[in-house]
Amino acid sequence: MTDWYKMSGILGNGVIGALQPPAQTRRILSGAPDDALHQLPETRMKRAHFDADHELFRENFRKFCETEIRPHQEEWLKAGIVSRDIWQKAGENGYLCPFIDEQYGGLGLKDFRYSQIMIEELARIGESGFALSLHNDVIAPYLDSFCNEEQKARWLPKICSGEAILAVAMTEPGTGSDLKGIKTKLEDKGDHLILNGAKTFISNGILSDIVIVAAQYEDKGITLVVVERGMEGFERGRKLEKMGMHSQDTAELFFNNVIVPKANIIGMPGMGFMYLMQKLAQERIVCAIGAIAGAQFVLEHTLAYVKDRKAFGKPIGSFQANRFTMAEMKTEITIGQTFIDSLVMKCVDGTITPEEAFMAKYWTTDLVNKVAYDGVQLHGGYGFMLEYPIARAYIDARITTIFAGTNEIMKEMIGRGMGL
Ligand SMILES: Cc1cc2nc3c(=O)[nH]c(=O)nc-3n(C[C@H](O)[C@H](O)[C@H](O)COP(=O)(O)OP(=O)(O)OC[C@H]3O[C@@H](n4cnc5c(N)ncnc54)[C@H](O)[C@@H]3O)c2cc1C
Repeated sequence: MTDWYKMSGILGNGVIGALQPPAQTRRILSGAPDDALHQLPETRMKRAHFDADHELFRENFRKFCETEIRPHQEEWLKAGIVSRDIWQKAGENGYLCPFIDEQYGGLGLKDFRYSQIMIEELARIGESGFALSLHNDVIAPYLDSFCNEEQKARWLPKICSGEAILAVAMTEPGTGSDLKGIKTKLEDKGDHLILNGAKTFISNGILSDIVIVAAQYEDKGITLVVVERGMEGFERGRKLEKMGMHSQDTAELFFNNVIVPKANIIGMPGMGFMYLMQKLAQERIVCAIGAIAGAQFVLEHTLAYVKDRKAFGKPIGSFQANRFTMAEMKTEITIGQTFIDSLVMKCVDGTITPEEAFMAKYWTTDLVNKVAYDGVQLHGGYGFMLEYPIARAYIDARITTIFAGTNEIMKEMIGRGMGL
């Protein structure tokens, strides 16, 4: 994953002189990632909501991550994008949209715990560019729930095989939180529609083949339409330079007089806002699962470091202030994990409420930022070096309080729900 020796060359120039990272950290960084990560301390409490099938699935998906993803992470980070290949491999192995019915190419596995496992395992290897859960758990449900049979037959098999990668385009340069303020326009031209507008910050923006676009459809209101790769007038803008998530192809999209067949409208015209509100709860749970798993990653890496790194003749974790920081980190993550696991079960039985999703999203994403801050601090100068997993965890965490609805919007909705 990381070339420690390259880094020690930089340090050897006298910048930090003779400082050496702890042996444990060197092992984590020096290219035997599977072994190294297995040496990280297990800090998670025993969890009751997974059975033997889930554990087997986790084992297999972990192997997939180790063999098909981890060896490419460095290359993807440099390229600013993951390969299409990984999408196809995920499809071949049944990891794309397993909840979709078998007749459309899925596995008919309608158990959200499998999604939780995949999100956790990707977090375990610090993978933030391969947007599997965005494809599987955030966007595919729009197609599965609101498309007619003809549309399902057209699109679902491709999104299960990896032939088509998904994106959802709501945000525009002039509006994000205030979704009702979008300006992208759909005009009715009798037998077809014309789409005009611009979207920004779109995840999978470059790789996507099927983009669900939210647009104002004349006086009908917000409507969801599918724009497909290759449609005339559909152009990709810049792949945006971001603070973190460096291998995720977040991009601008432009629609210039795109001719969209009416058969690409998802569900009922004018119902787009309702559909988005219905599915955004699951998107927020996906964020919360990723955030708590990211916090767990920070805990494990930081714990390994503070046990190994010595100052004043002692492991730095043995100073009381640091021991307390680690104790608080573990406690808060455990509390958060318990809450998230209970909400995952509510997703399984269909009783999750939007309010629970708002609470989970804001609290866990604040938490991952807090623990990542402490984790960097406990790594000292090494924590600022991108060669260290903690540094990437820190920069990747920052966006989580902003996307999928900012944490202020989450609190606004919780407050309104109390009649305030
Ligand atoms: C890496 C990345 C990936 C993304 N992926 C996608 C994607 O795939 N598809 C997509 O459609 N969008 C995507 N987004 C967009 C993201 O969802 C928006 O950035 C987000 O919803 C916030 O919108 P905004 O950036 O316009 O901020 P604004 O809405 O301008 O908000 C700015 C600030 O004002 C605050 N604010 C706004 N309204 C209120 C209020 N009523 N009360 C209190 N505070 C308020 C916000 O909380 C925030 O702090 C992505 C963004 C990023 C950075």
